Amino acid sequence: GPRPGLASALALIADVPDFPEPGVLFKDITPLLADHGALRAVVEALAAPGRDDAGRVVVDKVLGMESRGFILGAPVALALDVGFVPVRKAGKLPRATYTASYVLEYGEATLEVHQDALRPGERVLLVDDVLATGGTARATTQLVERCGAQVHAVAMLMELGFLPGRQTLGDDVPLTTLLTV
Ligand code: AMP
Repeated sequence: GPRPGLASALALIADVPDFPEPGVLFKDITPLLADHGALRAVVEALAAPGRDDAGRVVVDKVLGMESRGFILGAPVALALDVGFVPVRKAGKLPRATYTASYVLEYGEATLEVHQDALRPGERVLLVDDVLATGGTARATTQLVERCGAQVHAVAMLMELGFLPGRQTLGDDVPLTTLLTV
């Protein structure tokens, strides 16, 4: 299991039933973010897939998905001494973008990344808080590939084990989650 500092950090995540709609158990990470020791522990743990066994950094960028992936991803990028790239919902990025759409239970979602955010061949670490259906992570992987870059690893705080996120993402992409619920 996780080391003590990490386990007590993850214990700060609050369960909120029926948010934002009936039947959804929302995982609220704000109590964890507000505790600096907990935040430090999860940032270090999420950065680990960006290093090899000898501790060398093996990624060129960290990508965070709007919006909790921004909060977690930027400090992970600093921990690895690499740059941060935001993946945003449609219409937010001001310059030329690549776009990936995916199906939600009701409707569709679109994510974008700046076309010049990644150079061909760069290796990327994806960071977000929750892996649910995996649609967000898979669309982000498509954006990375569109840039000619590659997903080295995906790091998430939590994985909802009753949803097929891991299968959606596929076996090609190494997935590290700190907690399965
Ligand atoms: P998905 O694309 O289905 O894997 O959903 C992942 C995105 O939705 C992430 O950016 C999460 O922040 C958010 N999300 C999905 N389910 C939950 C949940 N139960 N609690 C909190 N956030 C969630």
